[in-house]
Amino acid sequence: MDYHYQILIDGKLCDPVKGGTMDVINPANGKLVAKAPRCTAEDVDLAAKAAQKARKAWKNTYIGDRAAYLMKLAELIRRDQDLLIPLETAQYGGPISKTSRFDIPSAAGELEFMAGIGRAVTGTTITANPSARVMTVLEPYGVVGLITPWNFPLVTAVSKLGPALITGNCCILKPPSCAPLTVLKLAEYCVEAGIPAGVVNIVTGPGDEVGEAIVTHPLVKKTNFTGDSRVGKRIMEISAPMVRPVASELGGKNAMIVLDDAEIDAAVETATYAAFFNSGQNCGSPSRFYVQEGIYDEFVKRFVAAASRITLGDPMKPETMMGPLAYMGCRDVAERYIASAKAAGFRCLLGGERPDTPETRDGAFVAPTIFEVTDNKHELMQDEIFAPVVGIMKVKTPEEAVELTNDSRYGLCASVWTRDFRKGMLMIEDIETGTAWINQHLEIVPETPWGGCKESGWTKENSVLALGEYTYHHHIWISLSEKPHTFWENEIKLD
Ligand code: NDP
Repeated sequence: MDYHYQILIDGKLCDPVKGGTMDVINPANGKLVAKAPRCTAEDVDLAAKAAQKARKAWKNTYIGDRAAYLMKLAELIRRDQDLLIPLETAQYGGPISKTSRFDIPSAAGELEFMAGIGRAVTGTTITANPSARVMTVLEPYGVVGLITPWNFPLVTAVSKLGPALITGNCCILKPPSCAPLTVLKLAEYCVEAGIPAGVVNIVTGPGDEVGEAIVTHPLVKKTNFTGDSRVGKRIMEISAPMVRPVASELGGKNAMIVLDDAEIDAAVETATYAAFFNSGQNCGSPSRFYVQEGIYDEFVKRFVAAASRITLGDPMKPETMMGPLAYMGCRDVAERYIASAKAAGFRCLLGGERPDTPETRDGAFVAPTIFEVTDNKHELMQDEIFAPVVGIMKVKTPEEAVELTNDSRYGLCASVWTRDFRKGMLMIEDIETGTAWINQHLEIVPETPWGGCKESGWTKENSVLALGEYTYHHHIWISLSEKPHTFWENEIKLD
């Protein structure tokens, strides 16, 4: 608790100019985990100037050397995993079974993946005109702002940092205020890895102040944001006057469609895992289920039974499957939607009450909650709740399921469960999402592109496509012709 966390500016770990701090609270018990630096726009200005100063030398650093820095960061994360795993769990409540198997190893894995694939980036050669050599060179933007959410604090930070650095950008990274600690450890690793001063700057503080100072800073050329759609819209709004690009990974309201011919064991097991893993705080979690009438009763019975066996409690215990939500405000939101669903008369099949055990009493806990829903327009089926609260509806046909899935302002991901791949494929092609699975849900690996459409944003994270978010095509034309080309009928007379 006494550990002195610092920000990173111009290669030095330091305190904010005004010296403020903010409390990081353990959502499982309401206790203080640590104090984190609370920056202001002044710190962002220093960070932006440091990044601007470092930008040319970093861009001109051999890509293999940039990759080596990423590999070193990955190595330091793996070295310190015994410290980072409980720290990640303490600050946002992700159970230790998850932070040890996913968050920390995946953070190292993301950096290693980008260190490798980033070296294969190439521009294009255009051969249309034989009297010219025409190419596009992929250029880094220069200084980029990276703003990240709390549901996987370290992974989401490095999944932006990796592609930003390997493509030659310098950056200002801002993690979420409720869970900034593992990213502040990353600041220390950047120094230990010897990353040149100014290439990575890490600041912490409230989004509406520090985040907006990054987005609007004159030296920042692009913002790469993951978070809530409402905040994404605000960032686009304040970026518009400067015509500044925003990469956006936003919210979701994801559907899982289970057809009569689905392999029911796999569908039930995946539904239970994908909806309630990390307490449903995954942008890709399914929170709307459309189940065909022939399999409906059996699926619902088994889904409810499986979800009722999820162990809820202290996230530090290895056997805990679901911990608290990230902070008390998230629980309040979830409980408001539960009350609204009850008021609408939807049958609550599981959960719906605040859990009251010695382990859950002081924390932001919400039990797995399943409602049987009859109105797709209800806010339970339309809004992203980001909690273990889901709605399930009976449908007659695959066409009806697709129609209901598309009746959403979000378009992040969806899945179809059927033994008939042809039918599943044709349905997927009609579904308006950036990501879709057949007989799978929530399988996300660094090699596959991740991202949505509609109000879920339009950016791709992961895979080779992520590199495109940090570069632009610089079109370069070298004329080999001695005679200029014009559209005038006669040649212009020269002296
Ligand atoms: P928020 O949008 O509230 O916050 C994300 C980040 O933005 C935080 O660092 C936050 O700072 C900052 N921020 C807040 N307001 C502003 C602002 N006005 N200008 C600039 N920055 C700002 O999201 P959450 O942290 O609550 O994360 C949950 C959301 O993230 C969900 O909607 C989820 O779907 C989405 N998400 C999407 C993913 C995807 O791939 N599509 C992946 C993971 C999450 P502060 O913490 O200080 O408020």
